[in-house]
Amino acid sequence: MLTNLQQQPADALLALIKLHNADPRPDKIDLGVGVYRTGQGETPVFGAIKAAERKLVEEQDSKAYLGPEGDMGFVEALMPYVFGKDSPDMGGRIEGMQAPGGTGSLRLALALARRANVKRIIVGVPSWPNHAQICADLGLEVVEFNHARADGTVDMDALRAALAGAGAEDAILLHGCCHNPTGIDYSPGDWDEIAGLVSEAKILPIIDLAYQGLGMGMDEDAYGLRRVLVAVPEALVCYSCDKNFGLYRDRVGAFYVMAAEPADLPRIMSNAHALARANWSQPPDHGAAAVRLVLEDETLTAQWLDELDQMRERMRQVRARLAAAGKAGTVDLAPMGGQNGLFSIVPLSKEQVLEMREKHGIYMAGSGRINIAGLTAGNIDKFIAAVAAVAA
Ligand code: PMP
Repeated sequence: MLTNLQQQPADALLALIKLHNADPRPDKIDLGVGVYRTGQGETPVFGAIKAAERKLVEEQDSKAYLGPEGDMGFVEALMPYVFGKDSPDMGGRIEGMQAPGGTGSLRLALALARRANVKRIIVGVPSWPNHAQICADLGLEVVEFNHARADGTVDMDALRAALAGAGAEDAILLHGCCHNPTGIDYSPGDWDEIAGLVSEAKILPIIDLAYQGLGMGMDEDAYGLRRVLVAVPEALVCYSCDKNFGLYRDRVGAFYVMAAEPADLPRIMSNAHALARANWSQPPDHGAAAVRLVLEDETLTAQWLDELDQMRERMRQVRARLAAAGKAGTVDLAPMGGQNGLFSIVPLSKEQVLEMREKHGIYMAGSGRINIAGLTAGNIDKFIAAVAAVAA
């Protein structure tokens, strides 16, 4: 039976990590994998999370099952940050549940959409590759539109055309902020227009918010999500705490449904709970419990927000340095100054990306995507010089 299985291609980024680890050059630079790094190249546990974990060890008196919805204290404590303090549940129309990371939340959103008879998912490309992989696994057709133009601005015409062509069985998947892989986000004005267009198209929006706080700020990064939610009757929101609480391997995410009427929520959530049961039964507890303890404690919340500010500020400084360099050979680094989050794309060919790796020991994804946080005061000049050399 198992001989029927075909070999699958290796995950390109994981293969890149192996190559980087095996490279003996002391000044090699890893810009591949998507985790935040400090100016010293480290990905530390947040101080606020460490403190919450200590509390958890002391105070947690049981590890008995919680149910498919996970830690509802965590899910609810996050809501004012996601949906705004004024109306965190939109008058009883929003309910959530815990999920294993942003990925688990997306799996749940897309599976629920399919159950509700969605057939096609409209996605701007390039996108995070797992969006298309999950859709393919669920038998959902992906309808692509161009996310950004070569000059580093969003392609609103392509989005308008995609929404004009949308039908009754379509949903649109939008990155809430810090677009992965381009770093090119919609402006508040763009979001105002998108909210109107999605509402006119009468299709289900699915908003993926995996980097809140890493772009412009916690409220600023939620602008688009909140703007769309006030314009439409129904929406799904996929949230990850893995970046903004530094919890990557602990798999911390939340999934939220906004229904047309509060009375619709029990029926919808019963489907989401059934899907969770069939997929992972219950989400892992530890990371979400730590986030809940941070959000329940004013001092820890302030510490967490301060740590998040420092991360965002460091990435802004790296971006400002790249933008100040302007042209590196034929590559214009200036647009990166206005982009957001962990990622940007350096417009290099596959051959040039290979040359960056082989000649200069600089590891980046084949698409030219770089992790901005992989750059430090100690290596950024080398990076800019290498781009100038390969794109001479
Ligand atoms: N959405 C996007 C756009 C992402 O980039 C990622 C992670 N890289 C996720 C979702 C999933 O995050 P998690 O690690 O929490 O599953």
